[in-house]
Amino acid sequence: MYCTKCGEALDSQDRFCRHCGESRPPDSAKRFEAAFPPSVGPSEAGYWHTYVRPFFMTAGLFIAGLCGFFLVLKLLWAFWGGE
Ligand SMILES: [Zn+2]
Repeated sequence: MYCTKCGEALDSQDRFCRHCGESRPPDSAKRFEAAFPPSVGPSEAGYWHTYVRPFFMTAGLFIAGLCGFFLVLKLLWAFWGGE
């Protein structure tokens, strides 16, 4: 690991460069990469967030709305003396 500003060799534990005091953004980028491994690429994650999740959310809302509609219909039916 080397400093991005001055090129000085850095200890892996250092949060800042001992030579010039520059913080270490490449390290945080590496941590981000560790949290989101390349095996699950950004395009795949983008596909999930753009198409799959909204589809299931829309389907869920549609089914919930349908159930609510029939529930209200049943209540109204009971209110007007049916059944
Ligand atoms: Zn430095």
